[in-house]
Amino acid sequence: MQRIRYFDHSATTAIEPRVLNEMMPYLTESFGNASSVYSIGKFNKEAIQISRNRIAGALRCKPEEIYFTSGGTESDNLVIKGIAIANRKYGNHIITTKIEHPAVLNTCHFLEKYMGFRVTYLNVDSKGRIDLKELERAISRNTILISIMFANNEIGVIQDIEAISKIAKRYGIYFHTDAVQAIGSLDVDVKRLGISALSASGHKFYGPKGVGFAYIAENVNFVRIQDGGHQEKDKRAGTENVAGIVGIGKAMEIAQNEMGDYTKKLRILRDYYFDKVEKNIPFIRINGDLENRLPGNANICFKGVDGSQMLQELDKRGICASSGSACSAGLLNPSHVLLAIGVPASIARSSLRVTFGRENSMEDVDYLVQSLGEVVNQLR
Ligand code: PLP
Repeated sequence: MQRIRYFDHSATTAIEPRVLNEMMPYLTESFGNASSVYSIGKFNKEAIQISRNRIAGALRCKPEEIYFTSGGTESDNLVIKGIAIANRKYGNHIITTKIEHPAVLNTCHFLEKYMGFRVTYLNVDSKGRIDLKELERAISRNTILISIMFANNEIGVIQDIEAISKIAKRYGIYFHTDAVQAIGSLDVDVKRLGISALSASGHKFYGPKGVGFAYIAENVNFVRIQDGGHQEKDKRAGTENVAGIVGIGKAMEIAQNEMGDYTKKLRILRDYYFDKVEKNIPFIRINGDLENRLPGNANICFKGVDGSQMLQELDKRGICASSGSACSAGLLNPSHVLLAIGVPASIARSSLRVTFGRENSMEDVDYLVQSLGEVVNQLR
């Protein structure tokens, strides 16, 4: 079988062996329901608490401020809908950006369509950053929530979270950040940054799929959006995914302890890749801010090349990468993020997102750039 070279760590990551080891007992002998009174139930309840403590330790918040969910999408829904509905009597206006993940954008569309909310979608500049003055101008006395992502999943651009949070605080507005791409690559101290709520997902930082968490500060007024049992302090009903929760806690602990070396490695691989592509392949456009950027993210347009064909040709060579654009009915729709930073639609269709991770080496980058050179030549 052909060797697979994986450059799509923003899409998902493989479970780290130490994480899997810790999860295994909860998938086998210790399978009890954490709400049960017998010992394997109680044992699992304790395991959930240990995981909550680990996550709270990494984010520097209280364990009671962590709510386990099924992933980033659910966390975004829980926080945004939960805060919006609970605070409807104070106002019906939400501010977000044009470059959010669909988990945020479509949640906002739902609130506009069915719940009478008004949503402002902020522009971003050519590097992908919001204008803080535009944010301030958008605030009205009806604004109850600002939801702005920590780091973008397509172009890796990091927003000025501290400055946004200061503005939110000045006007007494809750500030939620989708940190699904940031957790594991950036040190996130929620109290220092003044964040009211945050979403995260396990499978983006070498934890399991189907588990995530929301941090919601204790002073935030929100309601549950899923009715059922009394799990997660009555705020998120449903039998706990114990193995998943144990896994995300361990993954968070590892990420936090090893972040320095990990991000240094990613930065070296990413800069080597940028450099090699610039030297070897003409007519390219690097997308997104080069300074305020996730260490493992590279997003480049290869002008004149169709993104979906490029991915197929790379796949034949064992390379997994991604185009930011979504394919619908066989047509490649240009990415809403690239359009928002001002990339023309025809060029946006030629984008390739490469996201580096633990298992990548310099030799992998050499292979990737050589393959890209061949594929781009062939398709142009
Ligand atoms: N938010 C961002 C920024 C993401 O990148 C993703 C996944 O790609 C999500 C939310 C959704 O997370 P999940 O796949 O855990 O539902």
